[in-house]
Amino acid sequence: MTSQGRRLTRQRVIVAEALASAKRAQSAQELFERIQADHPTLGRATVYRALEAQVQDGMASRFERDGHVSAYIACDAEHHHHLVCTECQRVEDLDESAVAPLLASVGRRYEFQVDHAALDFYGLCRRCGGRRSTRAAGR
Ligand SMILES: [Zn+2]
Ligand SMILES: [Zn+2]
Repeated sequence: MTSQGRRLTRQRVIVAEALASAKRAQSAQELFERIQADHPTLGRATVYRALEAQVQDGMASRFERDGHVSAYIACDAEHHHHLVCTECQRVEDLDESAVAPLLASVGRRYEFQVDHAALDFYGLCRRCGGRRSTRAAGR
């Protein structure tokens, strides 16, 4: 491996570890800021590229945020469906069995043989939704 290749691998590992240690979805900018403290020489473009590479390799999932910002979370390749809280950015894996009826009905209705699907649901998690309704009730 060339020295440049080695450096690239090391940078990817740093980004992968930072993402894996994050409990919530992180935008590239947020992750870049996290990494900066320990690795000030790692550039923002490198973080972006490393994140995209992780998505390509099935090690991470990408989510959309307001304003066309992408957020990422480290993820097993087997997870295809997620519940994404838009308030606290917590991401929960949604079991395949939860979406199986939906895929079956799509298959019937459109006469389409679904091979695989990736579904992300955006909204409020129990904690954030509960807090919001408590606040509303207190008014
Ligand atoms: Zn997942
Ligand atoms: Zn939440």
